[in-house]
Amino acid sequence: MTDFAKTDLSGYNIQYIKGVGEKRARLFNKLGIYSVRDLISFYPRKYQDWSKNTSILDAPEGETVAIKATMITPVKEALIRKGMTLYKCNFSDGQNVIHVTLFNNKYLAKSLRTFDDYILYGKVEKTFTSASMTSPQIEKLESANGIHPIYSATEKLNSRAIAKVVKTALDAIPHIDDTLSDEIICRYNLCSLDFAVRQIHFPDEEKNIDIARRRLIFEELLTLQLGLLKLKDKKETVNNLPVKKDCTNEFCKLLEFELTNAQKRAIAECIDDMSNDSAMNRLIQGDVGSGKTAVAAAVMYSAVKSGYQCAMMAPTEILANQHFESLSKLFGGTDLRLALLTGSTKAKDKKQIKADLMDGKIDIIIGTHALIQNDVEFKELALVVTDEQHRFGVEQRATLAMKGKNPHLMVMSATPIPRTLGLIIYGDLDISILDELPPGRQEIRTDVVTSVYHERIYNFIKKAVDGGNQAYIVCSLVDENESELISAKEYAEELQTKVFTGYNLGLLHGKMKPKEKDNVMSAFARGDVQILVSTTVVEVGVDVPNATIMLIENADRFGLSALHQLRGRVGRGRDKSYCILVSDNKSDSSRERLQVMKSTNNGFKIADYDLKTRGPGDFFGKRQHGLPNLVIADMLGDMDTLKECQKCAEEMLENDPKLDRYPALCESINNMFRKTDY
Ligand code: ADP
Ligand code: MG
Repeated sequence: MTDFAKTDLSGYNIQYIKGVGEKRARLFNKLGIYSVRDLISFYPRKYQDWSKNTSILDAPEGETVAIKATMITPVKEALIRKGMTLYKCNFSDGQNVIHVTLFNNKYLAKSLRTFDDYILYGKVEKTFTSASMTSPQIEKLESANGIHPIYSATEKLNSRAIAKVVKTALDAIPHIDDTLSDEIICRYNLCSLDFAVRQIHFPDEEKNIDIARRRLIFEELLTLQLGLLKLKDKKETVNNLPVKKDCTNEFCKLLEFELTNAQKRAIAECIDDMSNDSAMNRLIQGDVGSGKTAVAAAVMYSAVKSGYQCAMMAPTEILANQHFESLSKLFGGTDLRLALLTGSTKAKDKKQIKADLMDGKIDIIIGTHALIQNDVEFKELALVVTDEQHRFGVEQRATLAMKGKNPHLMVMSATPIPRTLGLIIYGDLDISILDELPPGRQEIRTDVVTSVYHERIYNFIKKAVDGGNQAYIVCSLVDENESELISAKEYAEELQTKVFTGYNLGLLHGKMKPKEKDNVMSAFARGDVQILVSTTVVEVGVDVPNATIMLIENADRFGLSALHQLRGRVGRGRDKSYCILVSDNKSDSSRERLQVMKSTNNGFKIADYDLKTRGPGDFFGKRQHGLPNLVIADMLGDMDTLKECQKCAEEMLENDPKLDRYPALCESINNMFRKTDY
């Protein structure tokens, strides 16, 4: 064991840590832990403080506490039925007695000795005359003191077992070498990495947890920033594909509507970028319905008129189909040649399309991931547009960008992130904001109600559907233990059989294959499905103008920004649209939050409020930003650190562009950006 003193921690398989072995190593693997480095980077989820103990008398009923007590009666065993043994014994803290019951825990029961001192950790139940604890954690007083780490465990590998292995590993590492220079550590007021790693697992006192966290968050965000800056650096910046003329006026004649000023501004910024010395790298950020597609179409039009090809990539097939249809219609009267390439394109057609792309017989190709495959080649690809950018990773963007002579990049996103944050996480992009909705958009009427109103809501939906409209019903998890799948399925079944008999319901949930999702979504878009019951996977960006009702169950469980995105699925056609938020949560903060949804349709305002009131971790939802997953840092919650890290990263790269002085950090950067699976 001591032989990993010469710290190749990443290369040291956990299998060889004392007490692990091949079989348990596999359990660790399930948690993503393979090397000693992975193990010591597997931070506790929370802590239990066993050092603050209370007397039996003072222990509040129903709360989890630590009690220091002596065992005063031997363990009594009772077999209550086959496979269920109870162990009972009594403890005293010198003044009062507490009864302890253990279920089936023979190992623990047999280890207890009368007159020994222990710490009992668990919930206390009280009656007028007695106190008791059921299945508490019990440890010998000598070994129990202090703050205990709690890890995310699995069925076969509990938190205690993980803690023990982490302890063994840390004890065998004489010193964890620092990744940062003393100067940086000092300047940013950080503790050493060695201290941070040891204290995050086994803090000597509570305040050390924060000190350790600060260092580890700093390390992670710095790695992220360095990675992003290097990525930006790798990118060629010269403009090999200048757009020679601005054909926006000509393009406008194709539209049935006037562009908004915001759209005009964004288009001008793009064309300006593309005719300048360096290639375009621009994020078009606009609320749902702000008309991002028209901006992309205009910019592509000018690019094609300069003799180039364009590619537009969407995260799902149905979205790619929709873009293809609407752009085909828009460009119907022109000489622009469009094609669609997705996973479902027939092999024969695919071959033809690829050949045509190479020959320059296609001007605009629209598609999904299929577009970034190796065998797709272009004659003169000048512009790559990615829609709903947050679904794509930085890397994917980069792959598509490799396909030409450094083509211009335009990414479109409806996720309204605050500008300051945008600049940091999309550090390599310029940003245009569409802060204006096309005129004449109807406000979506939003109501917040309790579940008492269900019957009325259902009738309201029936009436709308009978009149030819469609509705979304979004349900989230009812409780953590329930699988998303089951709750959505059950709910859909209940609705179909008990409420909406005779109507066509569709079900969409996260466990479905992309193809299945597309099928359901397409059926809904065609109008074959009248009511779509869904978990939160309602596809971003899909246009079903006929849908006029968005019903969201347990609305308080969603972030406001997520609610706003969902609401944006309706109000896309001519008919008056409604968003109904159902919530039985009576807390003031929850009510107030939902009222914000009622009071404004402005995504940026909502995002701001969301940011201020809800834990920032929820803000993006999962994987909304297309950046690597962070283990400990929280992009928004740790905003200040993020800013510090950006500055620090810039300075480091200025002094040492290849980061020669920081080999360990280089390894972390590679790991972080490699691990990202999009
Ligand atoms: P998003 O920004 O959410 O992607 P879309 O590009 O899908 O929005 O546009 C939403 C709808 O608004 C489309 O039906 C589109 O034709 C329409 N639209 C876009 N720009 C304008 C405009 N300036 N005036 C009127 N309608 C517009
Ligand atoms: Mg869109």
